[in-house]
Amino acid sequence: MAVSTPPGPTGFAPPQQHPRRERDAGRVLVLNATYEPINVCTVRRATVLLLKQKAELIERATWTLRSEHTQLPRPMVIRLVTYVSVPRDTHRRKITRRAVFARDGWECQYCGARSNLTVDHVIPRSKGGSSEWDNIVASCAPCNRRKGDLLPAQANMVPRHAPRAPNPHVFIHVASPTIPTAWKQWLPDAASDTAGRSTAKGTSSAAGVRAAAA
Ligand SMILES: [Zn+2]
Repeated sequence: MAVSTPPGPTGFAPPQQHPRRERDAGRVLVLNATYEPINVCTVRRATVLLLKQKAELIERATWTLRSEHTQLPRPMVIRLVTYVSVPRDTHRRKITRRAVFARDGWECQYCGARSNLTVDHVIPRSKGGSSEWDNIVASCAPCNRRKGDLLPAQANMVPRHAPRAPNPHVFIHVASPTIPTAWKQWLPDAASDTAGRSTAKGTSSAAGVRAAAA
């Protein structure tokens, strides 16, 4: 079933659709044929892809999965054999609080606070601001109250980073709040506070920024 449809961004679900225990039960990082991380799937799904030779095993756990007839390595990272085109628009539509926070590095975009986060409309809805990625930022509750119904210039509160639709990596962080060690070398931003945000304009420009800073 659905063998011809490798796990794509439609596999991302808002957290409320995935009970915590299920997410923590074990997730597998899925790399595109190009080694770009594109998704997170269940061990069961990964095992099916491996058995059908739709994917290859990149990282495995030190322990194995046992069934009545066979013994398999527990996959941690798999790579799709065939390149999958990831529709960027899918990500664009999925605006959730967690995804906004992950994109913004779990930091208030006005003061840098890391607790009591809310989402703020940069241009208030009452002044015609949209609820799109480019008008929503993470904001701590005190900043959100302070800004109230004012425009950024009126409140003298401008987001530290211009908000944009996030890179797919952000959804990996949303799907898996804790990043297993075995994934880290495949997620260059995993250890960084700015996971995903630095790549909001595309990986090439982020690489350019890093190169320029070096
Ligand atoms: Zn703040």
